[in-house]
Amino acid sequence: MKPIVVIGSSNMDLVAGTARLPVAGQTVLGGAFRMSPGGKGANQAVAAGKLGGRVYLVAKIGKDVFGENSLENFKKTGVKADFVSRDPILPSGVALICVDDTGKNIIVVAPGANGALSIADVRKAKGVIAKAACVVLQLEIPLKVVEFSVRLAHKLKIPVILNPAPARKLSAGLLKLVDIINPNETEAELITGVKLRNKDDYRKAAGILKKRGVKTVIITLGAKGVYVSSAEYAGFLPAFKVKPVDTVGAGDAFTGGLAYALSNNRGLREAVIFGNAVAAVSVTRKGAQASMPKLNEVRKLLK
Ligand code: ADP
Repeated sequence: MKPIVVIGSSNMDLVAGTARLPVAGQTVLGGAFRMSPGGKGANQAVAAGKLGGRVYLVAKIGKDVFGENSLENFKKTGVKADFVSRDPILPSGVALICVDDTGKNIIVVAPGANGALSIADVRKAKGVIAKAACVVLQLEIPLKVVEFSVRLAHKLKIPVILNPAPARKLSAGLLKLVDIINPNETEAELITGVKLRNKDDYRKAAGILKKRGVKTVIITLGAKGVYVSSAEYAGFLPAFKVKPVDTVGAGDAFTGGLAYALSNNRGLREAVIFGNAVAAVSVTRKGAQASMPKLNEVRKLLK
């Protein structure tokens, strides 16, 4: 099994429950507090790691208790942290989250060390990137690092999966080097400018991305599954029917699952179905990394 290299963010989510969300200037007494490791890069690496993939994460964390906690979690979930470095000054990235009783939330993300992930950090991982099944990226680290990583992987002929989240406009130069892009609906609308309402819209949005040079487009559609447009297959692949409890990290579960399946030499269609199954199990449980399934759970659902 070839390695998967995930280059991206690692955060600690600090979550407090409250009956009502505070307004500016107000202090409210909250309920339960929990701390859970997050960040799209780390989430996707943990998803693939828990499945049994050979995953390397390239990320930057702080020399603080959140960083310690993340490293411990990587060890537990099978994520190789050889290229997770620690910034001597900046704190680990944190997301401060308040959730009210109806599930509404307010979130502030302080990227901290994620913003200091550098081209030099990626260069250190060149040896594993050169042998990788794929390189997986998101947009929670500096864009110049994403661009460098995509160019490096392309030069080494290693397939690039770009999960364009959080959404932002992307240059033509970047897109033409991307092999697989997997936005959710909101991200796909922002990147392509197409409002997604029906099958024709999905086809049109995918067509725009393919014209810009992306080989395979996978638009994730929540409980509806995905729309895929590739050389091998074009059309919808439905989600698995489950009772959702918490859909936080569903997209990350999908991306990790997709990368895992590709690193096991699965074809694209099969890998997408596998990604759907990984994400489906993850939405039946609370949390992001905590909800990522083991391989046997995914196999059970696929049967
Ligand atoms: P994101 O979490 O990035 O917003 P989506 O909401 O599109 O992404 O979800 C990603 C994938 O997770 C979907 O394509 C699907 O496979 C799976 N998924 C999400 N919600 C559900 C659900 N309610 N039931 C089953 N699968 C789901």
